[in-house]
Amino acid sequence: MVHRFFVSGENIRADRVVFDSGEARHIERVLRLGPGDTVTVFDGSGYEYLVRLNTNSNNRLTGEVVQKEKKDREASANLYLVQGLGKGDKMETIIQKAVEIGVKMVYPLAGERSVVRLEGDKAAKRVERWQEIAIEACKQCRRNLVPEIKPISDITGICQEIDGKHSIMLYENEQELRLSAYLSERRQELAGQEIFLLVGPEGGFSTAEVEMVCQYGGLAVSLGPRILRTETAGIVAASIILYELGDLG
Ligand code: SAH
Repeated sequence: MVHRFFVSGENIRADRVVFDSGEARHIERVLRLGPGDTVTVFDGSGYEYLVRLNTNSNNRLTGEVVQKEKKDREASANLYLVQGLGKGDKMETIIQKAVEIGVKMVYPLAGERSVVRLEGDKAAKRVERWQEIAIEACKQCRRNLVPEIKPISDITGICQEIDGKHSIMLYENEQELRLSAYLSERRQELAGQEIFLLVGPEGGFSTAEVEMVCQYGGLAVSLGPRILRTETAGIVAASIILYELGDLG
């Protein structure tokens, strides 16, 4: 098991790494590693560092970079998940899984039918927490680029983002177009492009939201006759899309 730690870019200077107190505690108290031991570090820039630990001085754990290498474990597709806000800690699970699968950005969507309302400071704090979850997921799955969690937005804000891009809206009431048909028709065209995948909250999308997304070039697609929970739908569709475009599997 390779132990990976996140250190923000400004804490790696001239081959010297300064661990924050949380990571230091984990390294020293939980893993019982000490001077001379090596760990793997990433800073979200795409590089991976082999770091030899120094003696902790003044309550500060530092290390020296002994090897620096760019390690690309990214999916070739640029898939962005627009996820309707769900109840409780659903979003945390969704972000963790989406990062593992290979999604490159997450846009939390305050849908018309989202039960959860997050505003101001509370919203900012939640997004910070989700960003930490994305970092934790990168530690585990070994991605060296950390997906960004965007601020919470309503459908109008999302439409500004998807304008002129490929966007796939999972819509439970879509009767005709299936995700499989969409992908098989567009596989060539989608390669290397930015793709937005929109998933509704527990209550689904409103018709106004569907119409607006379609006006901005989005296409509503179906995942078949069974209704999946919001936390299932996005992960399933993201896996299918990435697989069809050559990742996973
Ligand atoms: N409350 C709605 C279901 C919402 S499911 C109802 O009972 O009809 C939550 C979200 O998951 C949906 O908005 C959609 O984005 C996605 N989803 C779930 N099952 C789907 C399916 N079979 N096809 C397309 N999208 C689906």
